[in-house]
This record gives sequence, structure tokens and C-alpha cells, in this order.
Amino acid sequence: MTVSSLVQLRSVRCCWSLPRWQMNCHNRTVALWTSVTVQQILTHKKLAELSRISMCRPPILWGTGWLGKAALSTTSTGPKEVMLTSERYGVQRLPFSRVSDSDLAFFERLIPSRVITDPDELKPFNVDWLQSVRGCSKMLLKPQTSAEVSEILRYCNKRNLAVNPQGGNTGLVGGSVPVFDEIILSTALMNQMISFDRVSGILVCQAGCILENLNQYLAELDFIMPLDLGAKGSCHIGGNVATNAGGLRLLRYGSLRGTVLGLEVVLADGSILNCLASLRKDNTGYDLKQLFIGSEGTLGVITAVSILCPPKPKSVNLAFLGCQSFSQVLGTFTTCKGMLGEILSAYEFMDDKCMKLVESHLKLSKPVTGCPFYVLIETSGSNSAHDEEKLNSFLEHAMTCGLVTDGTVATEDKKIKMLWSLRERITEALTHDGCVYKYDISLPVERLYDLVIDTRARLGKTAKNVVGYGHLGKLGTIPGFLL
Ligand SMILES: Cc1cc2nc3c(=O)[nH]c(=O)nc-3n(C[C@H](O)[C@H](O)[C@H](O)COP(=O)(O)OP(=O)(O)OC[C@H]3O[C@@H](n4cnc5c(N)ncnc54)[C@H](O)[C@@H]3O)c2cc1C
Repeated sequence: MTVSSLVQLRSVRCCWSLPRWQMNCHNRTVALWTSVTVQQILTHKKLAELSRISMCRPPILWGTGWLGKAALSTTSTGPKEVMLTSERYGVQRLPFSRVSDSDLAFFERLIPSRVITDPDELKPFNVDWLQSVRGCSKMLLKPQTSAEVSEILRYCNKRNLAVNPQGGNTGLVGGSVPVFDEIILSTALMNQMISFDRVSGILVCQAGCILENLNQYLAELDFIMPLDLGAKGSCHIGGNVATNAGGLRLLRYGSLRGTVLGLEVVLADGSILNCLASLRKDNTGYDLKQLFIGSEGTLGVITAVSILCPPKPKSVNLAFLGCQSFSQVLGTFTTCKGMLGEILSAYEFMDDKCMKLVESHLKLSKPVTGCPFYVLIETSGSNSAHDEEKLNSFLEHAMTCGLVTDGTVATEDKKIKMLWSLRERITEALTHDGCVYKYDISLPVERLYDLVIDTRARLGKTAKNVVGYGHLGKLGTIPGFLL
């Protein structure tokens, strides 16, 4: 298998050493106080050139996300100029061909009126969601079928043209946009549902289906998608699989490595790999689809997904609680796991600094105040009386033993959505506050918040804010560093 014409620059894996432990993080942005090593995932002769990452703070104008505006209903002021990735990191263009008039003619014949070359139209597709990296692609292709993707990749492979697959462009590590003039292959028009089996709960759809649309489609049939994340209004299921996205439901339904049952992928030479099984148990041969989950477009373009969807819970409760310390956040987690058992579906924490940013930049208000930490606990079950009884007895216990100092519970859909937006929109709030260095890190749960405290101490006044929040339920957090 050749990957020569698929884009060669994907998420940069930084290894950042703090005095007390080592951690791995995925991010393309580079903090000026850290030492950074870069391991590009794909092979290339000029790989060494990519590791010359500038250690200086880049002179980028950071602003609110206009891509985010389209995607997440933010209130932004419009696009700001983002420095070219190639200039910022001083990387060299690899020896790929440049798009010629005859290439353009080929693509226009293949997918008429779905070839974008207008520089203004191309702008949002060249910049990532965080507005931290920018490429200068001169062509965006919007295929509708796997056969078209296959023709495109076969041609690009022959012509040695670099390609950058793109879904909803909500990725936070810059992998969704080109570095140079790679052709952007968008899955935006590959948005067809292929089948849904009400007995097994197995959905088969094209890779460009927007996560929220899938969820709405399933809700009418009393099912839900097994994943949910703040970017749901824009991200594509193919992008979710390509990034192995976790999200808010991971605690309950597990990772995509378990819920994705099959994939159809077009490889770099145009051949179509059909692993689109719809079997919950499939012990025949190699599980090739696993290679593509989390591969970020480096091995091929995912064109269709088969995924196991759980029934829609009949009763959902959401508690928003305040805790006085991180050890109480942990104690509350342990206690609720024990007392809520099978109905616990999400456990998220956020520190007070995050909440202040959400309040000041997005004008959302939280129902509980005066605590350094807040947690969101969601229960999903099939019997509301039973679930409420369990939740109430847990809350009573947590309050009595001082784990939680204040809180509120929502059972109505509208209030639940409102409370969830306090958590889901933190990423967006951060982008309103300046230049964001955002790390998605997994650490032993009892050490999680030490990271934020240590970083604060280490950065001192250099950082405007150092915040911590995330899916504690899956033993990870996402601290955001604002400079
Ligand atoms: C507000 C917000 C909240 C988020 N919350 C979470 C979270 O809770 N958990 C989490 O894990 N992530 C989270 N993310 C990041 C998450 O990874 C992405 O939002 C999402 O999974 C990417 O999907 P996308 O369609 O936007 O892909 P893109 O951003 O377009 O692409 C992401 C990567 O996948 C590749 N790719 C895209 N489509 C395909 C395809 N069909 N075939 C092959 N490669 C492809 C791209 O080349 C790129 O490398 C969040 C992002 C935002 C903005």
C-alpha cells in the first residue's frame, strides 16, 4: 500500500517534560516554555525538516472562531489572518506536483461544479477551528460517492499530488487543514444514510454525515449515537472515526474502537477496502478497520461507517454540583460510581476559572456559585422513578458527608441542554480569551489537577489563565493554557 499522495503532515506529537512526571499530548501548537520533540507519523525522506519547530511565540493574531461561528453558533467578529503553518514552523514543502490546468480539467470532468478554486471560498477550509494553523490549498474537491473518492485518489497518486482529507474541520490539532497547497478532499457531500437496523441498532452511513444530524435521525427511532461532543453540530462521523474521538458518552458506551463495527476506506492508490461489516461479533481474520480508527487520514479516506447505536434512554437526569477541592471531585466520582452504578452515563469536571470564562465570554450563567470546582453528573436509564430515587439518595449522601456543597438537578430537556452547554462550550470560550495552548492529556486520575497547579506555578504571570476541565469519567482531562 502506498501513502505517497496522502498528505504527509498530521498531528504533531509533543513530548513535554514537567519536573514530576512525563506526559504525552497531541497538539500542533508549541508552548514557548517547553521542550518539544516531533514525531511525524508518516514516512518521508524530508521528515527531519519537520522537526525544526520554532520555539518562539508566533506573531499570530488570535481571534474568535469564525469557523466556530458557523459550526457552533458562537458570537464572533469575523476571520482574522492566521500565520501560514509553513512560515510559523519553518517546514519545507515536500516534492509533490503542483495542481495544473489539466488536473483542474480532469477534476471538473469527474465531479462537475464540485471543484472549488475561488480563493475566498477556500479560506475557511485552509484554517483550523482554533485558528492556529493555515495552509494555502488552491483546490477543494467535494466527492459524493466512494467511487469518486477512488477516482480522485487514483489520479492524485499517479500525478504525485498531495491530498488532505477533511471532515467538519473541527479538529483541535491542526490535522484537518493543509500545510502547503495540498488538495483538500472534503466529505461534506458524502452525507447519506445507508441503512439502519432497528433490531440490532446498527447504523451504516456515509462518512460525511454530521454527528448531530445522525443523532437527530436516530432519536426519532428511539436510538442515539454512542458518542457526543461539543463539536457535534459540525464534525462528521468519518472525522470522529479518523480522530478516534472520545467525548461525553465514552464513560457509558466506550470508545469508537468498540462501537465501530465496520468501515469502508479508499486507500491512497484508489483501491476501495470494504470492511463495512454489520456484525457485532465478527471473529473472521484480521480486524483491519482498527488501523483506520484514529489514523487521522494518514492511511486512507474513510468513506462509510457502520456503528452500533444504543437505545435512547427513557430517563435522563443531570446534576450540576459544586465541590470545594479536587479531592472532593474525586471522592464524588468514586461515590457516584458505587451508588449510581449502571445508570451513570457521564462525569465531567471543570474548575472555576473555566466557568468564569464561559460566563464572561459567552454570557452563560451557572446555577451554583462560590466553589473552586464543579461537576456534571448525568444518569441515563429506563425507569425515571428508579433513576431519580438512586440519584437523590446519592446526592443526599454526598451533601451529608461534605463531598458536595451545593447543586441543582435537571430532568427537563431544555434545562439539561442549558447545563450541558456550560461544559460543552468551554473550548469555545477559551478561544475568546486569547492565544490558546490546549492539551488533551490522560494521567492517573488522582494526579490530574496537579498538572494545572504545577503549570500555573511554572508559568506565573506569563499565562493569562491556566484552566483544567474534562471527562473525568474516562480518567482524562483537557487543560487549556491561555497566554
Ligand atoms: C468544541 C469542540 C469540542 C470537542 N470535543 C471533543 C471531545 O470531547 N473529545 C474528542 O476526542 N475530541 C473533541 N474535539 C475534537 C474532535 O476530534 C473533532 O471535533 C472531531 O472528531 C473531528 O471531526 P471532523 O469531522 O471535524 O474532522 P476534521 O477536523 O475535519 O479532521 C480531523 C482529522 O481527521 C482526518 N479526517 C477527517 N475526515 C476523514 C475521513 N473521512 N477519512 C480519513 N481522515 C479523515 C483529517 O485529515 C484530520 O486529520 C472537539 C472539538 C471541538 C471544536
